[in-house]
Amino acid sequence: MIAKRTFDAVIVGGGGAGLRAALQMARADLKVAVLSKVFPTRSHTVSAQGGITAALGNVSEDDWHWHMYDTVKGSDYLGDQDAIEFMCRNAASAVYELEHMGLPFSRLANGKIYQRQFGGQSKHFGGEQAVRTCAAADRTGHALLHTLYQRNIAARTQFFEEFFALDLVRDAEGYVLGVVALEIESGEPMLFESRVTLLATGGGARIFRHSTNAHINSGDGLGMVLRAGLPLEDMEFWQFHPTGIPEVGSLITEGVRGEGGYLLNKDNEKFMVRYAPNAKDLASRDVVSRAIAQEILAGRGCGPHGDYVLLKIDHIGADKIKERLPGIRELSMQFAGVDPCEAPIPVTPTAHYMMGGIPTNLRGQVVAPERYGPEEAVPGLYAVGECACVSVHGANRLGGNSLLDLVVFGRAAGDHAIEYLRENPFPRALPGDSVAASLARLARWERPTGTERVPQLRAEMQRILQEHCGVYRRADLLEAGIAKLGGVEARLADAYVEDRSKVFNTARLEALELENLLPVARATLVSALARTESRGAHSREDYPARDDDRWLRHTLYTRAADQLDYKPVRLKPLTVETFQPQERTY
Ligand SMILES: Cc1cc2nc3c(=O)[nH]c(=O)nc-3n(C[C@H](O)[C@H](O)[C@H](O)COP(=O)(O)OP(=O)(O)OC[C@H]3O[C@@H](n4cnc5c(N)ncnc54)[C@H](O)[C@@H]3O)c2cc1C
Repeated sequence: MIAKRTFDAVIVGGGGAGLRAALQMARADLKVAVLSKVFPTRSHTVSAQGGITAALGNVSEDDWHWHMYDTVKGSDYLGDQDAIEFMCRNAASAVYELEHMGLPFSRLANGKIYQRQFGGQSKHFGGEQAVRTCAAADRTGHALLHTLYQRNIAARTQFFEEFFALDLVRDAEGYVLGVVALEIESGEPMLFESRVTLLATGGGARIFRHSTNAHINSGDGLGMVLRAGLPLEDMEFWQFHPTGIPEVGSLITEGVRGEGGYLLNKDNEKFMVRYAPNAKDLASRDVVSRAIAQEILAGRGCGPHGDYVLLKIDHIGADKIKERLPGIRELSMQFAGVDPCEAPIPVTPTAHYMMGGIPTNLRGQVVAPERYGPEEAVPGLYAVGECACVSVHGANRLGGNSLLDLVVFGRAAGDHAIEYLRENPFPRALPGDSVAASLARLARWERPTGTERVPQLRAEMQRILQEHCGVYRRADLLEAGIAKLGGVEARLADAYVEDRSKVFNTARLEALELENLLPVARATLVSALARTESRGAHSREDYPARDDDRWLRHTLYTRAADQLDYKPVRLKPLTVETFQPQERTY
């Protein structure tokens, strides 16, 4: 038997979502553990730049209901309207709460929280551009994550940093009773027993070759959920951010366009006017990414290979750039060799955000259809943040809505888990074989020889997803992608890790991550092939129109024989009227 620790709640993930949920439970005097494979403040949340959206009305008149309208429209009507109402209604209180915890927001001259323009945000249900995204310069995620970390330390949350979670532990009745994890320093496995397990493992855009995501964003929580026989929702929807630095992938925040920047093609034309006559450069991200892809395809891209466009911002003045966008200036000088105070930044659409994920309800409980009847919660299991799909982002997320999602649903999940723990005061018996599968998976990487190498297989997977499942998709491309991915999956059986030492064995961690990335990649391709329409970030060349009659529904993917199931979009909000699906123009 391996070492065991027991907690009321175990949270896998020390990003914004995990820390907000942990804080709620720790403040209720529960025994809370947070596991993170990196030091918590190195989670990807730290790199969020542009801000967190809430209708505070500090700069222009505003209303949470307008924010809700924009989010529903931005989602291309695939977002669940009850969840969207819940998020937008609770946005202001969630942001003020962060302010009171000490988050150092940028300030207006009158002392109120600074807000900037972001894409897809409007006043009066589709009117003028709204100014709604609250920011701490261009380091909002950094400020948010450090604030939440400090609050958790004060609330005595117990941190297990550099612990890699391997698998969920479930009993025969389907209750989740904790996780098996690997202590990275010693290489020893450990069982974390808990009545509540909350996954907050973040995104998985590392399935793509060009991505704004950290290397650690390998969809581990999604792999764990699939291995436990549970489904993933809407995995065909990945957001390509319009402005990543070519080849490197570093993100140039939408806040640059929010502060007055605009895109140019090689003819020096402000081409967004042709694609989104009203919102122009601040149309939503799927629209801008497609526009850039079209310009490049039409031969109007810049550079020797014509494979990027330019983002100009120098006209707002060096002082303003240094004050509002200091991190962006640094990134573009370091990675693109350009000082944006003087010259435009080369940019290209880059994989950025996973709209799909682990299906949950408004309280963060993971829901699964088949075993417990329609939409029943899996007892003891929660998911929050980018790994989860509530679904507030639907087919396309608006900028600034992810940080908001983390804190609103992190708090809601924490509150519900407190209730659940009260109703389930005693631990259930652990099944006899609770760690066997994980230990077998670990032992598999002990074998001394093989013919395949992990980095090679990962690179091939990333190339397949990039080429076969990018901004534009087509049946023949997706089918070929699935066939090629099958080849990579088959070769995994012959892969080995040369370094078999126990202490800080990062090669072994990469192998374990690949075991999560591959099923996420497969879920993406299979779900994308099945959806024969274009909606939000999922653009099918062979099915260019949105098809509400057939496809106003969520995809559910389970691993057994690539099984797909569907569930309806929740069009009914909590208290207000439904926003009926309409044609989406900007
Ligand atoms: C460059 C960039 C800029 C962005 N800017 C914005 C923005 O301005 N506004 C906005 O709203 N959104 C933005 N986003 C999106 C947003 O930042 C993310 O969606 C969000 O921060 C994800 O938070 P999270 O808590 O879900 O996950 P993360 O912050 O990614 O944290 C995941 C955690 O899970 C842990 N973990 C993962 N796997 C394991 C495992 N197997 N075992 C143990 N621990 C594990 C990690 O160690 C980490 O602690 C940006 C994203 C990127 C990439």
